[in-house]
Amino acid sequence: MKYALVTGGARGIGRAVSLKLAKAGYHILINYRANTQAAKETLGIISENGGRGELLQFDVSNPEDIRNKLGAWIENNPDNVIEILVNNAGIKKDNLMLLMEEEEWSSVIKTNLDSIFHVTRMVLKKMIANRYGRIVNVVSLSGLKGLPGQTNYSGSKAGVIGVTKALAQEVGRRKITVNAVAPGFIKTDMTESIDEKDFKSMIPMRRFGTSEEVAEVVSFLASPGASYITGEVISVNGGLYT
Ligand code: NAP
Repeated sequence: MKYALVTGGARGIGRAVSLKLAKAGYHILINYRANTQAAKETLGIISENGGRGELLQFDVSNPEDIRNKLGAWIENNPDNVIEILVNNAGIKKDNLMLLMEEEEWSSVIKTNLDSIFHVTRMVLKKMIANRYGRIVNVVSLSGLKGLPGQTNYSGSKAGVIGVTKALAQEVGRRKITVNAVAPGFIKTDMTESIDEKDFKSMIPMRRFGTSEEVAEVVSFLASPGASYITGEVISVNGGLYT
């Protein structure tokens, strides 16, 4: 059995990625922070469709929690290799920089950027030994373009783009690819408070995207067929910004 870890794999884009990779035959480690019900629902859909998976709760912003829980899974599964890592978990706490609280800055950086370091290096060891791996980081249009009110979020996602490009060069010769997918406006809980009507005229496709449309690209980059693509950032934004 091949394993894929999807952080924040219980809801939104992460859920769509979990379902897609399960269909491709992977046993999915569904990570989440607090919403156990959503995680169970995701696992339920996977099982109903004949796939396999399990819940793996840990807080990606907490290095000790990652070491304890992901570390324990790796130790207890010595013969299983996580072939695919999708670093998808993310939060936003928007505010103008002048008004931004330190907590709003640091929690977004810890969850969106620091997590990439702590989760990825834990999984990378075995990928390197196995000489195969696919790492896909979910970034954002905001990290490419910069958006006002999102200095914390834009900074975290731009940071992940830098990590993606640097790590791709470190591990390419081990047959591990590292890429990023940059969604624009996607209909999930994260964008619940944003009215599609107010923004769709700016988008050439004249609508928000779906989690499934993002998952299509993530699953392609995670597939064996994407073997000669690395260090790339692919936008899924309906033409909003390229
Ligand atoms: P979402 O619907 O809010 O879901 C977020 C998921 O991440 C949830 O499963 C949540 O777990 C998990 N998560 C959050 N903090 C976590 C933590 N500290 N530890 C572990 N899991 C954590 O978000 P989404 O819209 O699907 O976004 C997914 C990714 O796409 C994020 O990185 C986001 O920045 C990026 N993105 C989204 C959009 C968009 O328009 N939606 C656009 C560009 C980029 P719980 O359920 O337990 O809270």
